[in-house]
Amino acid sequence: MRNDYHFDFYGPGGYNKAMPTPARVVVFDTTLRDGEQAPGFSMDVPAKLAMARALDALGVDIIEAGFPIASPADAEAVRQIAAAVHRPVIAALARTRRRDIEEAGQALTPAKRSRIHTFLATSDLHLTAKLRMSYDDCLAAAVEAVKLARSFTDDVEFSAEDATRSNRDFLCRVIEAVIDAGATTVNLPDTVGYATPDEIREFFEQIISRVPNASKAVFSAHCHNDLGLAVANSLAAIQGGVRQVECSMNGIGERAGNASLEEFVMALRVRQDRMPYDTAIDATKLFSTSQLLAQITDEPVQANKAIVGRNAFAHEAGIHQDGVLKDARTYEIMRPEDVGQSTSSRLVLGRHSGRHAVQSRCEALGFTLTAAEVDEVYHAVISLGEHRKAIADGDLRRIVERVRTPSTTPPGVSSSHVEASGYGHGV
Ligand code: MN
Repeated sequence: MRNDYHFDFYGPGGYNKAMPTPARVVVFDTTLRDGEQAPGFSMDVPAKLAMARALDALGVDIIEAGFPIASPADAEAVRQIAAAVHRPVIAALARTRRRDIEEAGQALTPAKRSRIHTFLATSDLHLTAKLRMSYDDCLAAAVEAVKLARSFTDDVEFSAEDATRSNRDFLCRVIEAVIDAGATTVNLPDTVGYATPDEIREFFEQIISRVPNASKAVFSAHCHNDLGLAVANSLAAIQGGVRQVECSMNGIGERAGNASLEEFVMALRVRQDRMPYDTAIDATKLFSTSQLLAQITDEPVQANKAIVGRNAFAHEAGIHQDGVLKDARTYEIMRPEDVGQSTSSRLVLGRHSGRHAVQSRCEALGFTLTAAEVDEVYHAVISLGEHRKAIADGDLRRIVERVRTPSTTPPGVSSSHVEASGYGHGV
């Protein structure tokens, strides 16, 4: 895939610059499981099905559809998604208990391709404080669960919960044993979002080199965002040898959430010069998928959210607007249309706006203004912006009409003290 974002693309000779073929990273989407279990994000069965279809269209490789033992509705959602969505692998979560795995296996029966995802904590803290289990009991339970899961499907993922805080010798023993028992994916979650990027890269490098049968499984990262590092840690994990990343739309999930799918995908696309990896995601569907999730859960997306926030490609500051109008690359590292965002909302008119943007928006609305009219409209926009968060097209139309009606035009305001492009914030 050609990298349209690397800045060499824009420079002399950049078009033909050879880039290494990116290695494929599997996107395991957990919007409907880890995301859905977060407070305020629960979805009913039809909503989950609608979201699963959108995730299918988006191009995720695996949809974790739910945790069937958790509730009859969870099991029903997994069943309906398995029956209706056929391209991606449909995964269901299960603890290592027999009933959990049987329930997951049954819910997945209609799936064309199914995965059972079973998990057990391996850290001393979780084993002693939560599970009251010994190392030996933990190891045996993990192996038994993987074997049982394999009797339902040949695609089995084992997760060592709290892996990044686990004793590394013990963790390596568990991983080797579950791979021997038939686990095809080994997920090592940073369950509490405690790891740092350099640490997690070293963690995966060391584990993959220490576990003798590591080459028989795909290693996976599942990073939480408690320190805002989930995406950075997921990228570092790939550099440490991981080939599956667990993530969610809008980064929803337990507490501060999971690695955000849209950020992770676009970081790889935009910086393929530094990270030669890619996913099968159709990035032009990121914004609409994000909006669908916000609508279904009635939880709005943070305005300044990377990639999918309404401000991710919006410019109000005059200096920025002037730059973007002359060449968008001055303040944009990717194109809004590439992630499905509209280009029409790019320039926001408000108190920090510049004359160039005001004029450009007026032209887009069909008004050809004289220099003096632009001047008056610009001042009216700035003045209205003192009282409003943003100036909509309707406001701008009314301002232009008023400026063009001499009797209602306010007394002329001197513009000599105003910089031609407006100020805003330069940096
Ligand atoms: Mn999680």
